[in-house]
Amino acid sequence: MPTTTRQWLLNDRPLGRGIEDGDFKLTETELADPGEGEVLLATRYLSFDPAQKGWMENIADYVAPMEIGDVMRGGAISEVMASHNPKFEKGDLVFGTTGWTEHLVHDGTGLVKVETQLPPTAVLSVLGTTGLTAYCGLFKVGKPVAGDTVLVSGAAGATGSVVGQLAKIAGCRAVGIAGGAEKCKWLVEEAGYDAAIDYKAADVKGQIKQHCPGGVDVIFDNVGGAILDDMLANIATGARVVVCGGISRYETGGKPSGPGNYFNLIFRRASMAGFIVLDWASEFPDIRKRLESFVLDGRLTYQEDVQEGFENAPATLKRLFTGQNRGKQMLKL
Ligand code: NAP
Repeated sequence: MPTTTRQWLLNDRPLGRGIEDGDFKLTETELADPGEGEVLLATRYLSFDPAQKGWMENIADYVAPMEIGDVMRGGAISEVMASHNPKFEKGDLVFGTTGWTEHLVHDGTGLVKVETQLPPTAVLSVLGTTGLTAYCGLFKVGKPVAGDTVLVSGAAGATGSVVGQLAKIAGCRAVGIAGGAEKCKWLVEEAGYDAAIDYKAADVKGQIKQHCPGGVDVIFDNVGGAILDDMLANIATGARVVVCGGISRYETGGKPSGPGNYFNLIFRRASMAGFIVLDWASEFPDIRKRLESFVLDGRLTYQEDVQEGFENAPATLKRLFTGQNRGKQMLKL
């Protein structure tokens, strides 16, 4: 059994700039033996989410603040190496927010056993926070009805790619916005989107008009900034604008400036709402089963981008902000 563990600690806050190597510090610390009710875990896969940068900055109040010197917060799949907790057995795979550590002793609170017919990593991707976010944001906030046009930014990412496919399952037309020809090709050929718009190829507004001639009924926005402006320029009457994230904000810091054309919400009698997926946590087990059935019956596909090596955790997080990731970003230990 290990007596020490390596951990990545928060060393600085990336306010107003991108993430840098110096924002983290790799340390080695002693590991206690698991006591009564505790388990010893070995981390197998780390999950990476754009929200982690916001946690490092302490800009959000829906999670506890992170202090300098804390183990970097993040989701993971771990293997139970030893158990003094009746809920878990040696060899079980579990997932939870256990942080950037190779091993840890845990009291079991909040840990969920990996129980799926899909490969275990699915609990971090299509059945994980990103899949759940796609489902809750689209159906509970966007409320699409068959025949609607659903426009998704960050469409080729872990969340966005699931949103478009769920929109198709609901009988809608799905149009995605992503960076680069390769991602756009994947959206249409693999993920079943009806059309894809490459925001790096200029004139996003014109392309939206071309692909959504009747206007957009549901916007699912992961990006914010200029792309949100362009999407708002073409909403249909009664449109629902779902504010899921604003990844274009993360490199500049601060709060993004508001959309220049929000007045369109008035002219189109539209609504705009943000959400935090954790508000539906009690429904997650049922929603996971639903998402799993969609994958099993061939209606939902997903991509996972698995990097390797604990020492590469900071570099792996950075990939989300440069669009290097192809689907759900993870790291195998
Ligand atoms: P992801 O979409 O798999 O990866 C991030 C993608 O964002 C990148 O691949 C890149 O794709 C795009 N991107 C990065 N910088 C950009 C920029 N400056 N402008 C435009 N696009 C940019 O990540 P994810 O984990 O699925 O998260 C997607 C969004 O959901 C994030 O905004 C996240 O904060 C949000 N989220 C919200 C909740 C909630 O409860 N509200 C929960 C989970 C996630 P391209 O190559 O296409 O640029």
